[in-house]
Parts: sequence; structure tokens; C-alpha cells
Amino acid sequence: MSQRIYLSPPHMGGDEIKFVQEAFDTNWVSPAGPHIDAFEKELAQYNGIEYCAALSSGTAAIHLALIILGVERGDEVICSTFTFSGSCNPIVYLGATPVFVDSESDTWNMDPDLLEEAIVARIKVGKKPKAIILVHLYGMPAKINLISEIAKKYEIPIVEDAAEALGSKYNNQKLGTFGDLGVYSFNGNKIITTSGGGALVSRNEKWIQKARFLATQARDHAPHYQHSEIGYNYRLSNISAGIGRGQLQVLEQRVARKRQIFEKYRSALSGLPVSFQPEQGVSFSNRWLTTVVLNSENQSVKPLDIIQNLEKHNIESRPLWKPMHLQSVFKSAPAFVNGVSERLFKNGLCLPSGTAMNEREVEDVVTKVQEVIA
Ligand SMILES: *Cc1c(COP(=O)(O)O)cnc(C)c1O
Repeated sequence: MSQRIYLSPPHMGGDEIKFVQEAFDTNWVSPAGPHIDAFEKELAQYNGIEYCAALSSGTAAIHLALIILGVERGDEVICSTFTFSGSCNPIVYLGATPVFVDSESDTWNMDPDLLEEAIVARIKVGKKPKAIILVHLYGMPAKINLISEIAKKYEIPIVEDAAEALGSKYNNQKLGTFGDLGVYSFNGNKIITTSGGGALVSRNEKWIQKARFLATQARDHAPHYQHSEIGYNYRLSNISAGIGRGQLQVLEQRVARKRQIFEKYRSALSGLPVSFQPEQGVSFSNRWLTTVVLNSENQSVKPLDIIQNLEKHNIESRPLWKPMHLQSVFKSAPAFVNGVSERLFKNGLCLPSGTAMNEREVEDVVTKVQEVIA
């Protein structure tokens, strides 16, 4: 049997191992060291933003962002419902409550009208949301211009969850740099990886200094260990940062290849009753995962039929994210829904989008999808 085709496996550029070797040679095998500082600078520079803290995961970055914004027990935080649980779990870590907002069908991301409706409704019951966690799903930019206007009008800060959207742009500006704080993830399946890691970025230097402080157990300035706040062990290791520096060198190539794979799928499947996550106007998606939606007239075929046929041929695929308001763990959370994310979840799937796939492998996937639909 041929080698398994994964959804989005790690893809090393080559220089990662040199940075790791350097860390060993200098004995910086620790959660401090020169690769961490350099990775923060290089990542900030790539994104065109001033300050960056390298952390152990994207989830940790969201957690610290919410602490920095003053989210506390009993507060409410708005979050996209169509996302991965890492976006909203940190709200619960803090004893706060997520308020989920559904998607619009143009970008699949947070619906600006529904967002305003949610804000107004929660203010009416005396629960003004403390923050908005805005997700750019599968790398596709949300309507960040409209959402920023609403956030400004009600004076609510935005945490931009760009975990899937490193390299994506809106109006030529990198995603993750529009919000008050921005979050990236370097988990193994993301567009680049540090084998596990994340980052928090901002134009506010004090906030990023605070993130570093909280991520290293909140040690006050003193010769002994002195603490006046609760801290976390959330720093990225110098080894991981070395991998990240190597990965940053090939990030633009990875974006280009992801987009190429998407175009290939789109043109090969264009005759079938399917549609794709649309990129429009000033949006530029990194196409982290190619997603395809079966038109609902085509009732006889379900995403699971395609997923099973691909699995039979040792090809990994998966349904779209199951919306958070449908998860039993969040069933008591307030939700403002319009049916868009539920419809997408029911009819869509993610196709293998690894940047190391060759043309023949992409064609194999296409054939196995066509087999089921045609
Ligand atoms: C991956 C991901 C996260 C969490 O990042 P980790 O580094 O895995 O903790 C958060 N939000 C979204 C949308 C993600 O895809």
C-alpha cells in the first residue's frame, strides 16, 4: 500500500536542524535562549508588528491575552462558534462564559450583524462582553474592517485568533495584526510548526512584556522567588524556537504551495456539485486547508462517504469544525446562531493539504473524491 497521505503534516525546510544543533552546541536547551529572542523578532517583522512573545501553544497565547485584557470570573467573552475548541477553552479557564456568534456565508467567519446583535443583547441584560475572540477559519480573513468598527463603537477589545491564518492578508496587511492582540499557533498540523508552540503579538509593548512575565511564573523583581500574581509555565523552548526560525525561512513558499494545491483541487472538482470557501476583494488566504462543501441539492452523498472512501485508500481527511454551540460541553453558553455554521458542518470536509504532497498525490485525492460524487 502506498504511503499514507495526511491532512497537513509537518514539512521541514532543511535549516531547522542547523538551528537545533546550534542550541545543543551552545547548551541553550532551555525555555530561554537566543533562538527565542530571534524567533520573536523575525516573526514580528514578518507580520509587520512591533512586539511578540513566543509561547508554548496558541491556546496559551489566547489564555494570556484574556488575562491581559482583564477577563475575570463571571465575565462574558464573545467567540466565533465555527472554530476549534482551543479558541474558547481559555475563556472557561478563567471562570468566564463564552458567548458564541455564528458565521456569515461569504467568508465562513463571524457575522458582523450577528456580532452587533449579540453585543446589544448582552449589554441589555447588564453583561457587556469583555472581549471578542475573532477567528480566521482555515486561513480565510474574516470581515475584519466591519468587525473592528463594531468593536470600536462598543469599546470592546479584539483578540484575533490567527492560529490557522499565518501568512494570510487583508488589504495587504497580515492577519493577527488588526486586533488589540493577535495569536498564532505552531502546532504540528499548522502551516509552519515548532513541533508545538504559539505566539502573542501586539503593538502594545506593555502587554507583551506582561505576557512574558505571566508565561514565566510571574516572578517579581527580587533576589529570591517573589510572587504577587499567579503565573504560568507557557514559554516556548529554545529548541522549538530554533525549529521555528528554520520554518519562517520557508513560510512564503508554504503559502504559495497551499494556494497552488487549492487551485488544483478547485479546477479538478469544478464540474461537480461542490463549492469552496470563497476569497473575495482584498482578502488573501493562506489556504491552510482546502475545504469543499457539497451543494445541499446533492442529498445522496454525504461528507462521511467521501471521508470513508479516502480512508480506504489510506488518505486522511476530516469533517469541518463542529460548531462550539453544538458541543455538549458548551450547551449552556449563550449563542447567537443563524444556521450557517451548522449547514457548513453538515455538508463540508477538509481535503489533504500538506505542502510536501506531489502532483500525483493531489490527483489521487481528486480521483477518490470524484468516484463518490460522480
Ligand atoms: C490550532 C488552533 C488553536 C490552538 O492552537 P494550539 O497551538 O494547538 O494550542 C486555536 N484556534 C484555532 C482556530 C486553531 O486552529
